[in-house]
Amino acid sequence: MEDLREAREIAAQMRRYLEDLRLFEGRDFVVPTEVEIAAPQEVEGGPAELESFRQEICECTRCPLGSTRQQFVFGAGNPNADIVFVGEAPGAEEDRAGEPFVGVAGQLLTRIIEAMHLRREEVYICNVLKCRPPNNRDPSPQEIETCKPYLERQIDVIRPKVICTLGRFASQTLLQSVESMGRLRGRVHDYRGIPLVCTYHPAALLRNPQWKRPTWEDMRQVRRLYDGMEL
Ligand code: URA
Repeated sequence: MEDLREAREIAAQMRRYLEDLRLFEGRDFVVPTEVEIAAPQEVEGGPAELESFRQEICECTRCPLGSTRQQFVFGAGNPNADIVFVGEAPGAEEDRAGEPFVGVAGQLLTRIIEAMHLRREEVYICNVLKCRPPNNRDPSPQEIETCKPYLERQIDVIRPKVICTLGRFASQTLLQSVESMGRLRGRVHDYRGIPLVCTYHPAALLRNPQWKRPTWEDMRQVRRLYDGMEL
């Protein structure tokens, strides 16, 4: 606001100067009438920008899943979160609820988040695909390519301190990699300047309980990055 006052004062001084030239030196020009210098538009913050982005895309029909879904599942949680969890795609329950990770895998994810001494509402949770693939089949490469810009924009708006990808699809999509989970996890990657940790998908953990220990190691890494600790 200080800059705005200064700009208005400079404009008024220039008008007075031009008026003096016209009156006292007989210069022949028209002094512009006073113009209102508008205050700059408020820059939208994360929450408002994320919500207007949701409204912009929630009717999406850019791929055939737009016509088979019940609900568009944008994402949920804190729009100013320091941690973003990225899953694969909504399942049947998420499709019904319009919210990510509300089924059995979601309940496990909530317990993992709580074991990190965080609350689900504190973090942000979303998926690579915003619509459910019928019969929970794998997302197709075309669906991922079509939907990926939505995820990229969400992350751009939220600008978390750390990203945690859950499973192969989210990890490979954000890292533009074809490597297996076994190779991708266990190190900290870089996603456009944001540290990214890959871990197993909670649904895979339910089928493979032996992956719980490595997943917990990954979560401790996520927590260290969140706490701003040295790697
Ligand atoms: N699995 C996912 O990857 N995402 C969900 O939202 C639910 C299950």
